[in-house]
Amino acid sequence: SNVLLKVDNLKKYFPKRSGAVGKKHGEVKAVDDVSFEVNEGETLGIVGESGCGKSTTGRMIMRLLEPTEGSIKFDGIELSTLSNKDMRKARRDIQMVFQDPYASLNPRHTVKKILEEPLIVHGIGSSAERKEMVEEYLEIVGLSAYHARRFPHQFSGGQRQRIGIARALMTNPKLIIADEPVSALDVSIQAQVLNLMQKLQEDLKLTYIFIAHDLGVVRHISDRVGVMYLGRLVELADSESLYAEPLHPYTQALLSSVPVPDPTYEREKVIITGDVANSVPDAGCAFHTRCPYATITCKMNVPNLVEVKKGHSVACHLYGEA
Ligand code: SF4
Ligand code: MG
Repeated sequence: SNVLLKVDNLKKYFPKRSGAVGKKHGEVKAVDDVSFEVNEGETLGIVGESGCGKSTTGRMIMRLLEPTEGSIKFDGIELSTLSNKDMRKARRDIQMVFQDPYASLNPRHTVKKILEEPLIVHGIGSSAERKEMVEEYLEIVGLSAYHARRFPHQFSGGQRQRIGIARALMTNPKLIIADEPVSALDVSIQAQVLNLMQKLQEDLKLTYIFIAHDLGVVRHISDRVGVMYLGRLVELADSESLYAEPLHPYTQALLSSVPVPDPTYEREKVIITGDVANSVPDAGCAFHTRCPYATITCKMNVPNLVEVKKGHSVACHLYGEA
């Protein structure tokens, strides 16, 4: 399979400020040396708690945020150094779906205006053609042509996310970065939106990066899953391998809190000790303050992400390093 997106050593450091004077106190490593590939037609799930850097990673790929360092190669083009003008063109091929469809849809605009906007930005179609495309895409996402005249508040949460998805599809993109697209929806609606996204992927040959804070949500939609913890990618594997045999203690802990109906999948609960760390420890493995297996090595040395078996990489000293 062809690699569509290749991210190498991506970093985003923010200046850390504290105190009334806003004095600079070092840096927050929001994303710290993250590398991965996404193949054409696949879904890569990226999972982690809030603040782990998953959204920041997505926003850097879109260049909504400038990377501190690193390379983002999309379809043969290095995005990290593109001019704003060329990046605007590239965004025709990379679109985003956001967590809160209500916040991301202009309440004063009709659905027609909302869906037409990306076409106008990219100079696609005549006015009549654009109207036709809006109606076509409303139907593709399970709504109807007559919905074009309505406003966002006239729709349910699930319908609004369908509009958000339609907007992302208007420019016929190759890659969609979906940042927690179902997190704000009722559980009963989540499955409908996930099923729609899966069908669209097949019909329109889309590639997805699917960001979530819950491993359960991405289980069925992802071909591969990456787990992030405090700015680092700590495990990356084929979905099957990750859910059957999670290697990183953090992934094991995340999975132990996922309710799994099949009792044969019941696994020993790994208790995460300590609180959610709000800053990365100065040295060593970022998880060492919460890890039940931490040793002195873990406190001193940062483990690198290493492929320990085919298609399964982990950053943890328990597994040694090549
Ligand atoms: Fe735990 Fe050490 Fe592995 Fe980090 S490197 S996850 S502290 S065992
Ligand atoms: Mg987020």
